[in-house]
Amino acid sequence: MTKVSQRELEARLAASVAELERQRAAVLHANQLKNDLIAVLAHDIKGPLTSIIGFSELLEEGMLDGDAATDAARTIRTNAQRLATLTNDVLALSRVEHGEFEIKDERVDLAALAKKMAALHGSERDIRLDVEPNALVRGDAERLEAALDNLLRNAIKYAPASEPIDLSVGRDGDRVLLAVRDRGIGIPEGEIAAIFDRFARGSNARRAKIVGSGIGLFIVKTIVEQHGGSIEVQSVLDGGSTFTVVLPSLESREAHRTGRVILVTADGALARFAAYELRMRGLRVREAATLSDALDGVRSGDMFVVDERVARATDLRAMLPNGLAVRLIGLTETPSNEWDVALRQPLLVSDLVEALVEP
Ligand code: ADP
Repeated sequence: MTKVSQRELEARLAASVAELERQRAAVLHANQLKNDLIAVLAHDIKGPLTSIIGFSELLEEGMLDGDAATDAARTIRTNAQRLATLTNDVLALSRVEHGEFEIKDERVDLAALAKKMAALHGSERDIRLDVEPNALVRGDAERLEAALDNLLRNAIKYAPASEPIDLSVGRDGDRVLLAVRDRGIGIPEGEIAAIFDRFARGSNARRAKIVGSGIGLFIVKTIVEQHGGSIEVQSVLDGGSTFTVVLPSLESREAHRTGRVILVTADGALARFAAYELRMRGLRVREAATLSDALDGVRSGDMFVVDERVARATDLRAMLPNGLAVRLIGLTETPSNEWDVALRQPLLVSDLVEALVEP
């Protein structure tokens, strides 16, 4: 039997304790989530159900006729729709939590999507469209539609019926921007930063007793981030809110396949060797010794091959301009999922080529 040193035993024990701590935190988190969900459901299901049962009883007993009966039927439908939306949100939330929230890879025309959704909600509110053509992205049409639907429903819900909503879609270089602006109740300044968290609700929305579960924006953010994009909100209390979604354009995503390779390594011999091999295979290669060199003129579609001794994935991501779709391949001793692909040293050129040309 091999003898294990005291020091090694201590290290193993420390690793086990850390793992137990991690598992305990995960269980606590899951439990908290379940409790929050039950509280939200209990509250949000009860209201609509009470109204559906109450009005259907009145109809059944023949207590309502003419306009009153039509109003009752409308109230029943609105509340049933609220329950349907809530069910969809909860199902989506559960898929996100279980890592089963998949995004299709289709060509999506955001301008067409915006027109469709404006028409859909046009009977409820004046929606002013400002749409540039050529707003194409890669992704999941159904999920992007759900995200925009959510933003529009919120704009309708949290703003008075007399105020129009502005829906715009435009291009900014490699990015497609989609914005929904309302002139409603806004979000209190101190609550803006956390408004995309699950179950987050503005104190003013609660106070005004506007029905909501605080799940929608979390789902919207998840959808946007899974498309390589970002979402932000600018809001003024009692002045209105603008939600802006930024997504990489279709062209920039497709450029992955033909983009440049930027080699960032401290080892000159390795760089020369890799650069030579990659150029032989028809790839465009640029060598950089530092991060600022590497980021000079960076554009969507570029692929970074980075020696972790020069830079870590988190540092590089923090320095990248927002909304750029680039691929990060790390040469590292300790593979982590911060890289799109992590390759161990010594580097096999065949692995590198595979990581670059078959994303
Ligand atoms: P819900 O509307 O069901 O509560 P969301 O996740 O969509 O859930 O929104 C979270 C919270 O963000 C809302 O409860 C509300 O306080 C605030 N909010 C979202 N959109 C708007 C908006 N357009 N104007 C003002 N507040 C908003």
